Amino acid sequence: LFVSFEGIDGSGKSTQARLLAETLRARDRDVVLTREPGGSPGAEEIRALVLQGDPDRWSAQTELLLFTAARRDHLERTIRPALAAGRIVICDRFADSTRMYQGLSRGDLRPAVDQLHDLMIGTEPDLTFLIDMDPGQGLARAKSRATAEERFEDFGLDLQTRMRAGFLALAREFPDRIRVIDGNRAKAAVAADVLAVLEAELS
Ligand code: C5P
Repeated sequence: LFVSFEGIDGSGKSTQARLLAETLRARDRDVVLTREPGGSPGAEEIRALVLQGDPDRWSAQTELLLFTAARRDHLERTIRPALAAGRIVICDRFADSTRMYQGLSRGDLRPAVDQLHDLMIGTEPDLTFLIDMDPGQGLARAKSRATAEERFEDFGLDLQTRMRAGFLALAREFPDRIRVIDGNRAKAAVAADVLAVLEAELS
């Protein structure tokens, strides 16, 4: 089973990915918790290339190629072997983040995103949780924990609002796979919803 978490920065998706992994492990399920960009040694190196240092170092197109390369490595080295061994893979961001960040926020590269995905990735999660969050609240949370080492993109409220709408549009584009969860609540309440949806899908 391959599960991904998506959402705008500050939506709480990483926390929810971790909580779901902990809950499933407590039930003796064999879980691999991983993340993008990154998730394999090579992909983590690419993450550092993109997110550290001068944010204008790469063009939007080059950045798309780097993220696609990272995802390919992550798939080959981490995700596919884990799925083949019957493990549950929980991934903090996957291709939907590229559809949004590279496809929408940096020029309209969505056609290129889709072609590269078909050519080099071709895999979708079985289930994706979109943690939907008020854009202003998400921005405040993301800002408050931004670190000096990695790029944090302060998109500003306008773009953050567009990103949220973009993610919701993606959920309508992939209705069989993406489940929208209201993230504007206490962590435990969000986690309970996530678990209930997962159990319903599995049964
Ligand atoms: O999810 P995480 O906080 O680790 O992501 C780090 C940064 O990478 C985010 O601020 C996000 O804007 C950026 N990112 C991106 N394109 C992706 C995935 C993440 O620009 N496909």
